[in-house]
Amino acid sequence: MPRITAVETHDVRFPTSAELAGSDAMHPDGDYSAAYLTLRTDHPDGHSGAGFTFTIGRGNDICVAAIEAMGATLVGLDLDEAFADMGAFARRFTHDSQFRWLGPEKGVVHLAAGALINAMWDLYARVEGKPLWKLLADLSPEQIVSLVDWRYLTDALTPDEALDMLRAKASGRAEREADLRATGFPAYTTSPGWLGYDDEKMIALATEAVAAGFTMIKLKVGGRIEDDIRRFALAREKLGDGIRLASDANQKWDVNEAIDWMTRLKPYDPYWIEEPTAPDDILGHAAIRKAVAPIKVATGEHAHNRILFKQLLQAGSLDVLQIDAARVAGVNENIAILLLAAKFGVPVCPHAGGVGLCELVQHLSMFDYIAVSGSKSDRAIESVPHLHEHFTDPISYGPSYTAPTAPGFSARMYPESLRDYAYPDGAIWQS
Ligand SMILES: [Mg+2]
Repeated sequence: MPRITAVETHDVRFPTSAELAGSDAMHPDGDYSAAYLTLRTDHPDGHSGAGFTFTIGRGNDICVAAIEAMGATLVGLDLDEAFADMGAFARRFTHDSQFRWLGPEKGVVHLAAGALINAMWDLYARVEGKPLWKLLADLSPEQIVSLVDWRYLTDALTPDEALDMLRAKASGRAEREADLRATGFPAYTTSPGWLGYDDEKMIALATEAVAAGFTMIKLKVGGRIEDDIRRFALAREKLGDGIRLASDANQKWDVNEAIDWMTRLKPYDPYWIEEPTAPDDILGHAAIRKAVAPIKVATGEHAHNRILFKQLLQAGSLDVLQIDAARVAGVNENIAILLLAAKFGVPVCPHAGGVGLCELVQHLSMFDYIAVSGSKSDRAIESVPHLHEHFTDPISYGPSYTAPTAPGFSARMYPESLRDYAYPDGAIWQS
């Protein structure tokens, strides 16, 4: 019986602040980073699992320390036992009787839990020889329900309701899987819209994106209102009315400020406003949504757990739900969130970009399409062209995501990247 033999960690950072790619109203100088781990095993086929959480620089070492502290308990773990009950595997981190004091289910311990849980899913999918989306899409409704931590959810969704929802979609799975393999999953791009780009660069990249087939583009907002009006007017003029222009304030505003700001952008028909205010402000998002309609409200990339998502849905705070593959407690908690979104009839458009977030989250949307929501309508995964070259199974940037065929969670980085971008001793940081 194969076991985990070691948990190796890496503090990997990319000097993205030099290019202003990734710049927004709250994070003008991020160095995109991964607190990365490898689960080593004595599996006869030599399998290992990779996982990470994403940060934007300082504090990445704190996440690595948390992964090391929490991962230490895994050495010696029997893989077959763990794979047989991945719900229990996830709860060993989120319900740890001592680590939970540091959260519970939020902050650095939750990011670390997500990295470890996702690494185990990568390992499981590799052992099974399937891409993660396919491994999940082949599970029975009962198995899917068993992955979820139902604590604190049953006032909004019970396991029995989830079972009914999943069973209702079971008969169409094969047809949707065939469609996914043939046509992929829609993407939108944030590449033109970073706040640090001038008008010329923004328009050049936006025009290029539309020519490549993108039908939705996102622009960062929240610097100066005059700049946002000019940028939106220009983008709308150059791209025409057929292109969806989303906006993203990255938590910049107070509630009334968000309402005033978006009211001034309304003539240019923004499709959604993303993270208009503090990510924890459930009632604030609800007030903004009511005031700025028909502009949609999108949020979730900084929502720290399923309970917050539950309340955002219960309070009518969002039109578009944005999961992030590496912020909550891994695949398991994201399945809970996908089920909640389906229950409330809200489309999921995942947050991606960063380091490897596109690679991870595509699997969750593809699983959602096949087994949970059963729909691609008004759904698109964020995409950016950066940093994919460091991954052994990269996405190819474009207007749709192609269903991965390689086994695993697409989480593995090249050893050379882990070495050269190691902080602070790698060659990139030493030069
Ligand atoms: Mg965002």
